[in-house]
Amino acid sequence: MTKIRVLDPETVNQIAAGEVVERPASVAKELLENAIDADATSILLEITSDMTGITKIRVTDNGEGMTAEEAVLAFHPHATSKIRDIADLSEIRTLGFRGEALASIAAVAEVTLVTRPRGGDALAGTRIVVRGGEVVEKSEVGAPEGTTVAVERLFYNTPARRKFLKSRNTELAHVYAVAESLALAHGEVAFRVVQNGKERMATQRSGGALNTIAGLYGAELARSLIPVEGRLPFIRIGGYISRPSENRGTPSQISVSINGRSISSRQIAAAVREGYGTLLPKDRYPVAFLDLAIDTDLVDVNVHPTKREVRLSREREITGAIAAAVNEALSRHDLARETPAEPVQQQITLEGIEPAPPSPPSVAEAGAQPYTADHRSLTLSDKQLRRTETEGRENLLPAMEPIGQVAATYIVAEGTDGTLYLVDQHAAHERVLYDQVAEQRNRDAGSQELIMPVVLSLPPKEAAALRDAIPLLADGGFVVEEFGRDTFAVRAVPTALGAVEDPATVREMIADLLHDEAKTAPDRREAVTCIVACRGAVKAGAILTPEQQKRLITQLARTKTPWTCPHGRPTVVAFDKRKLDGLFKR
Ligand code: ADP
Ligand code: MG
Repeated sequence: MTKIRVLDPETVNQIAAGEVVERPASVAKELLENAIDADATSILLEITSDMTGITKIRVTDNGEGMTAEEAVLAFHPHATSKIRDIADLSEIRTLGFRGEALASIAAVAEVTLVTRPRGGDALAGTRIVVRGGEVVEKSEVGAPEGTTVAVERLFYNTPARRKFLKSRNTELAHVYAVAESLALAHGEVAFRVVQNGKERMATQRSGGALNTIAGLYGAELARSLIPVEGRLPFIRIGGYISRPSENRGTPSQISVSINGRSISSRQIAAAVREGYGTLLPKDRYPVAFLDLAIDTDLVDVNVHPTKREVRLSREREITGAIAAAVNEALSRHDLARETPAEPVQQQITLEGIEPAPPSPPSVAEAGAQPYTADHRSLTLSDKQLRRTETEGRENLLPAMEPIGQVAATYIVAEGTDGTLYLVDQHAAHERVLYDQVAEQRNRDAGSQELIMPVVLSLPPKEAAALRDAIPLLADGGFVVEEFGRDTFAVRAVPTALGAVEDPATVREMIADLLHDEAKTAPDRREAVTCIVACRGAVKAGAILTPEQQKRLITQLARTKTPWTCPHGRPTVVAFDKRKLDGLFKR
């Protein structure tokens, strides 16, 4: 008896699967890539999850489909339609070529594949179920053109692997990150991502890279980007980069695709950074979406089982060309002239997160600085006030009629008995909001999904703090998910805030929450409520219409303790007629 034996195919496949299938996101990546390779124009990714984690991943495409014979072959290890021999690898145009994804996935899960070739007979569809590498079912079915692959019970037979899975939200975040990078690299395909029946992401076909970026990260970011272009005999550089003011603490927002393959490369990220030179502080990184077309014989894609990394020949010339193109784009773009619509705020509260709003202007400054109401700030205040509208009957404040505002900060109102009231608009609204958030928290009224998730890229330290605070935030009604390295998506906010469309407000709240104050507060839940109230409230310095002033006073009057804000400062001060008379020595 020799001690060396040839492993049985099942074991071989399970071992191979270890390289390709690390987590649910790897499954999503392989299935999505197969759909793209099959020339699909529309791809749906459906994720099902429950308390235990992700239970099912299903990808449906309208690609070329497979015959019954091909469908069986597809599950064989090293079976691929994409290359014939190693020579083909040098000019590979497909994402897959190793022929091991389906075999690997099927070795460690239950896979159901339904497919029908394009142009084939409507009833000539094939359904195959493979479990632990064994075909357990094969039948002829009616099916639409294209392919659906569903993967369930991932790692059911490899408990060690299952143990390494992270929390459901972390795994979901990885899946979303995979879908995002493929969507960025493949504008020719319309992607839709649905989780437990809810749409999480959707891009349009050939909407252009900017549209895809807007769909994924918000129109605000997309609008502010600068186009990059460059060309050498063997490389074409395209894409978009951020203005220097839009920077991050990590390079995780530099996304790069080479010949349609989204890859990660330190060297290329460093080249992009280099192109900014001194326009960025030393340890800051821009946001960039680079699309590189490089002669295929300079790109070795076969260095990594998941093909996430590639090896480049003439790497120095390539990175040099990228840095030069970035630099050129920035210098062509007159950064100074294009001042942002909002005043630049100098006060920095936290790296990587938008600065806090300026402190309320003093009355003295007010004289020198005329307040002008722009449409944006008026509608913002309007939204903020509308959210806190209630039915209440109580009226704990004396009747008063607003006359106007002082310093865009205090509402001046007159009581029926001639009393003069000054209402601190921010403190007043803070009280209103605080009471409502606290009330909802007690009723467990939960959270409201944002129309567009707010994406935060943080330096590692803040990222760690935010990671720790996720359960606390969840308790306060925020749904925050980590996806990618040190990048988070805020997907929902407390109901009292409504579907805040103002990403800056959300960023401010998170910045405050990460501050020492909130971290060490004896009652952290309380701290969350305070911050939400403060950041969600009408700002000092915001011009309010007479109607808005009135609404705010009515809302304040309906709270149980209208006279102070949650921090105990006064919301209203009164000068009765006698006091006024006294001031004038009458
Ligand atoms: P690879 O993509 O490296 O070729 P896979 O194991 O991922 O290997 O897939 C094996 C083969 O199955 C592919 O080469 C392709 O011919 C076929 N296939 C897989 N998924 C699809 C799909 N969604 N549509 C059409 N054909 C597919
Ligand atoms: Mg593949």
